[in-house]
Amino acid sequence: EENRARAERHRPGATRDGARVEIAANINRAAAAPGALDAGAEGVGLMRTEFLFLERDSVPTEDEQEREYRAMAEALGERTLIIRTLDIGGDKDVPYLGLEREDNSFLGLRGIRLCFERPDLFLPQLRAIVRVARDHPNVHVMFPMISTLEDFRRARALLDDVRAELDAPRIPLGVMIEVPSAALLAGQLAPEVDFFSVGTNDLTQYTLAMDRLHPQLARQTDAMHPAVLQLVALTVQAADAHGKWVGVCGGAAGDEVGALILTGLGVKELSVSAPQIPAVKAALRQHDLATLRDLAARALTQPDAASVRALTRTLSPNPQ
Ligand code: PEP
Ligand code: MG
Repeated sequence: EENRARAERHRPGATRDGARVEIAANINRAAAAPGALDAGAEGVGLMRTEFLFLERDSVPTEDEQEREYRAMAEALGERTLIIRTLDIGGDKDVPYLGLEREDNSFLGLRGIRLCFERPDLFLPQLRAIVRVARDHPNVHVMFPMISTLEDFRRARALLDDVRAELDAPRIPLGVMIEVPSAALLAGQLAPEVDFFSVGTNDLTQYTLAMDRLHPQLARQTDAMHPAVLQLVALTVQAADAHGKWVGVCGGAAGDEVGALILTGLGVKELSVSAPQIPAVKAALRQHDLATLRDLAARALTQPDAASVRALTRTLSPNPQ
């Protein structure tokens, strides 16, 4: 029985009729990699590198960062590792950096915007990542909080400079879609990126103008809101038109309803917390892709998230 459960966890993510959806893990430290792989992770879809900064009281050096990224890349072997560059600001304060307090921290110098202001933080991180990517072709890089084409080009230019300096080859490069403007500009971004990864936590917050941490808005801050799903659909259409893939690394990917609807919208990778992997794989295996596409199409026309969730309750598993 134990062997059967293990074999089940390690089956590749797919719908009942075999359409592949890669199920990856959101983990931040190399030490978590063995556990995630044991849970059935097919890769790491989001390594939140700010946790290297949050769990201590001084800036990690370039060498320290390199060691951590290398250990993660080695633990994953050939599997994809998506390293997200620093996403500090918003709700993630790093006291020892002495960042200025902002009235609207979620709308201020957050993520890539802070990195542009602080090359003393960003460039050593890029160098650490590039040194590892030089030896590990499984390493992908992704930028958080991109809201304009200019943001992306500016970030890419800094990475290109570091690559030139270290004589490193091209690295697969992605953009997080977590600001509505990025989803609306996906058609312009798509030719210039290798992939998109939708951050549904922030995309929901910014689309509905509801603080993701607000206790009284928690019930309404649901990524299954059709307004959010429309932006995901736009992103997938733009990516498909340019032969690029879209993943989701926000919390909606690990929600069983979310996993079904996002797959129906054409998402090809779901990156979730490790304990959610078996349930997400099991949920996908109950339905054919055509059923999920139909479900997603109907979801887009619903008035609210509750109606979207109600739709999935009418879904019976496709007969085996
Ligand atoms: C997101 O916004 O959905 C996301 C994955 O990034 P974070 O939760 O780290 O802001
Ligand atoms: Mg985010």
